[in-house]
Amino acid sequence: MNVDYIIVGLGLAGIAFTEELLNHNKSFVVFEDNSQNSSLVAGGIYNPVILKRFTPVWNAKEQLDIALPHYRNLEKKFNKVYHHKIDIYRVFKSIEEQNNWFVACDKILLRDYMLPEIIQNKNKFLNAPFDLGKLTGTGRIDVKSLAHDYRSFLKQKNVFIEEKFHHNQIKNFEKHIEYQGYKSKKIIFCEGYGLKDNPYFNYLPMRETKGELITIHAPDLKVHYLIKSAIFMLPLGNDLYKVGATFNWDDKSKVPTVKGKDELEFKLNTVINCTYKIVEHTAGIRPTIKDRRPLVGIHPNNKKLAILNGLGTRGVMIAPLMAKKLYQHIENNSVLDREISIERF
Ligand SMILES: Cc1cc2nc3c(=O)[nH]c(=O)nc-3n(C[C@H](O)[C@H](O)[C@H](O)COP(=O)(O)OP(=O)(O)OC[C@H]3O[C@@H](n4cnc5c(N)ncnc54)[C@H](O)[C@@H]3O)c2cc1C
Repeated sequence: MNVDYIIVGLGLAGIAFTEELLNHNKSFVVFEDNSQNSSLVAGGIYNPVILKRFTPVWNAKEQLDIALPHYRNLEKKFNKVYHHKIDIYRVFKSIEEQNNWFVACDKILLRDYMLPEIIQNKNKFLNAPFDLGKLTGTGRIDVKSLAHDYRSFLKQKNVFIEEKFHHNQIKNFEKHIEYQGYKSKKIIFCEGYGLKDNPYFNYLPMRETKGELITIHAPDLKVHYLIKSAIFMLPLGNDLYKVGATFNWDDKSKVPTVKGKDELEFKLNTVINCTYKIVEHTAGIRPTIKDRRPLVGIHPNNKKLAILNGLGTRGVMIAPLMAKKLYQHIENNSVLDREISIERF
């Protein structure tokens, strides 16, 4: 069978690139083996401000200008709601932090999101003696539902193959590639941490980070905004809250651990003081790169292979823009900024 593209991996990167192909009437087939689940467990939060230091996220506006319409189109396509706008409240740790907040509120890239006032904490179950700062223009994408619907959609179109892609079975020809009976012009690898098993691209310096999350049921809490303190606490409705996340650079498994749960509970107990029950515990590996920039580009020695990876901790915001840039690079020879191009390694 002849196709324009083979895509390996259907997380946020694979979905964004597949959408590009559909928008340009290209044919394709997607391989997905469920070996990674970063996109499926992600909090799905998008937030253009780094809340540790009150600095702007790299290229946030450019990313959101593409990302929000991308998710809106997917909502229309499947007649579902994936995008939930939600304000973020940052718990201050000190008077000094309150002052830093006001300084940051004046900065050009931040003032659209950070409100220049201190919000008094009126919730007795929330520990916030120095009160809160409020961010707007933030939200979350229900990535798990989106990924589920996207798979069903591709299955219906008969272009979703639920099995492992074996790199050693790629056959190279002058103008095309063959893989298991598919003749394709290009293969795009969107494998997340699966990159480690890709002999063509695993020279790229991924510094993967495992993350764990718990979901709690806390009927007394009644918080309707995202709380960011030592951890984030994201209201899901029905008194459920997603709480996360841990950062572990040593453990390479996607299995939830007691250590991860204990760390989250310890931090959570510094933030709230009501009873709760843990109802879910998940983990995944973030495809983070040493320099915290994505991996986009065509293989230096094989022009039929390309990569879309390195989305790190912000796949929701960054995936749609990077997918566009990669598509334009492949189809129209547009130049990739060095910052995102794999040529930097
Ligand atoms: C705990 C946690 C919380 C997070 N919270 C947020 C958040 O709130 N907001 C945000 O923006 N980001 C968040 N992230 C980061 C976000 O999840 C990632 O940036 C994003 O999911 C990466 O998407 P991806 O498609 O590159 O990788 P993945 O989601 O890992 O997808 C790669 C896909 O490729 C498949 N695959 C790999 N190898 C093969 C193969 N050989 N054959 C077939 N299929 C293969 C895998 O099964 C997988 O489905 C979080 C991550 C974690 C772990």
